[in-house]
Formats: sequence, structure tokens, C-alpha cells
Amino acid sequence: MRTNGLMISYDDGMNHVLKPQCEKDSSYPVGNLMCLIFQGEILDNISRILKNSINYCPMSKDALTQDSIEEAERYILSALLYEDFYPAQRIAQGCFIRVMEHYRALDSQNMSGLLQEELQRVSEVNMPFNDIGFSNVGTFLRLCFNNYYVDLVNALSFFTALSAIFSGSADDREKVTFNELVGIFQDPDNVPGIELRSMLTASGRMNNFYVINSFLSLVMFEFSHLESADVLIRRCQNPDCRKFFTAKRSDAKYCSFPSPQNPVRLCRNFYPQLLHSKKVKENELDHLIKNTFGRLYNQKRRHPDRAAEVMKLIKKLQIEAESKKQEVLHNRMAKMDFETWLKRLTIAKGEDTYE
Ligand SMILES: [Zn+2]
Repeated sequence: MRTNGLMISYDDGMNHVLKPQCEKDSSYPVGNLMCLIFQGEILDNISRILKNSINYCPMSKDALTQDSIEEAERYILSALLYEDFYPAQRIAQGCFIRVMEHYRALDSQNMSGLLQEELQRVSEVNMPFNDIGFSNVGTFLRLCFNNYYVDLVNALSFFTALSAIFSGSADDREKVTFNELVGIFQDPDNVPGIELRSMLTASGRMNNFYVINSFLSLVMFEFSHLESADVLIRRCQNPDCRKFFTAKRSDAKYCSFPSPQNPVRLCRNFYPQLLHSKKVKENELDHLIKNTFGRLYNQKRRHPDRAAEVMKLIKKLQIEAESKKQEVLHNRMAKMDFETWLKRLTIAKGEDTYE
């Protein structure tokens, strides 16, 4: 029997992704799959592939029959093979085919009820496709894509809100989203199921594996194992990254995704170095500021008659130095210009016998 969806066997903190014949494809520590799939470009790529294949579907004008739906399924499955990341390819495929199978099994009364609800949704919120229905293969695939999209958006919001809460970094908006979604997903009807399958090994042992065919269910599956696997969710402290990642230690600070400042390097390697070189630069700038204060206080001592004038410069330095320093640190001002600015904080040239 053909199995659609992501097949996973879980043991001891590891998810093993299985191929259709149950041979192992790859393994991921708990939490890693969701962090990989829900961050970065994978989901955009997959959704673009799906959307394009629907837009250019050759049988889109065909009437909706058992045969044409099966042909459309095969067409969608082959399009998804263009996604390289196997677990993501499988879950997108499972999600889309689950919706197709569910819709095609409806009787005509339930079909029209569902279509009314979906058309209502299209009129209320921005959905990927408006021309949906059961009139032909094209409108049917678009209807299925809208539902796929809802599952994806729910999963993404839930992943972000849950990770923010678990990592202790949630802002007010994320806390509100979390509470709303927990309320919604307490109703099992709102959560697409995860199927538990079993098979016997040659030695007669029973092996269990799960078939996940919803993005939302994947998020739930991953989160439900975090605690038992002793895994923490952290948020990258690189301010330009802020991605979620899994860690064993609570003091882990940076992720293993490409760093936004330098994508050929990983945050956890690159950002501490960047911080260090920033610190060195900051120390240098502090040193320059300190010297300028010293120089001005000397001028004040040597020219008591112009003390008020020098005090004005000292005040200016006190007020403006920090923000100018930040400009330099954020590369919005050249260090040379900063030095020139400091040098100009002096009483008129030629009258300063000290310099
Ligand atoms: Zn990062």
C-alpha cells in the first residue's frame, strides 16, 4: 500500500525518517526537524513548487472524476520531488494528499457545505486562491491548496509561539498567540491526526512508526517529545538572526544556521567573533574619548581665563560622544570622521599653548 506523509520512528530522543519501504533515510535529534522545516526557505520553496504546478496543471480543465483526481495526485507527487529536503517533501506531500483524499470522499451535501465555508473564508481573509470548487480538476486543486496553506500557517504560528514560550523569550504578542492557539488545538477536531502504524521484523519483533501528514501535527509531535528527550528550545542571541534551535545546555546562545551577517559561516562560530571584534573596536573608541576628556581638562587648567569655553566643549563631549560611538560601531560613521570630530573639540587654534 502506498503511504503518503512523513514516516518517523521515534526512540530515545531521536526521530528516524523512513523511506516508503521502511528503510531508514536519515535521523534527527528531537526538535531539529521542526527547527529546520519551519525556519529558512524550505517552506517557501515547497509552496512555490506546489502553487506553480497547480497553475500549470495540464488537466486543470478536466471534469472531476475518480481517474482525473488520481492523475492529479500523481502529478502533484511528481512535482514535489523537486524539493531536495526529503522530510519536508514528504510532509508537504502527505498534507496535500490528505486534503485531496478527504475532499474526494465527501458526499455532495458535505461538498457544498464545505465549499460555502471555504468561499466565505476567501471573502474574509487573503487566501492563495479565490477560484475554488469542485467544478473541475483546476478549481479542486486550488481548493486543496488553500486548505494545505491553512495547516501551514497554523503550524508556523504555533511553532513560533511555542518556541518563544519554551525558550523564555516570548514577547506580549507571542504570548497572546500562544494562548489563542492552545485554546483552538484543545479541540481534537482542529488537529489533523497522526497515524500509528506497526510492522513485524523478520525476527518477529513489532516495530512502530508514525505517519505524519500535517505540518501542525509535526509541530505537536516534536514538542511532545522535548521534555522526555531532555532537549531545550533556545532563541539565537545574534540580534539579526533570532532563530530557534535545540540545545542540551540552558546557556547555549547561538544557533547552527548560517549567520545573516556572513551566510557562509554559522551563527555559533561567527557571532562570538563578531562580538569580540566589536568589543575591541569599542575599547579603542572609549580610549579616544577618554583621551579627549583628558586633553580638555588640561586645557581648562592651563587657560583658566577660558575655562567656561572649555567647559562647554566638555559638556558637548559628554552629551554626544556615546551616540557618535554607536554610529561608528554600527558602521554608520567612519572611525576617521569620529576622530576628526574629537580633534575639533578644542579652543581656537594658536591660542592653546599646550598643543
Ligand atoms: Zn543564529
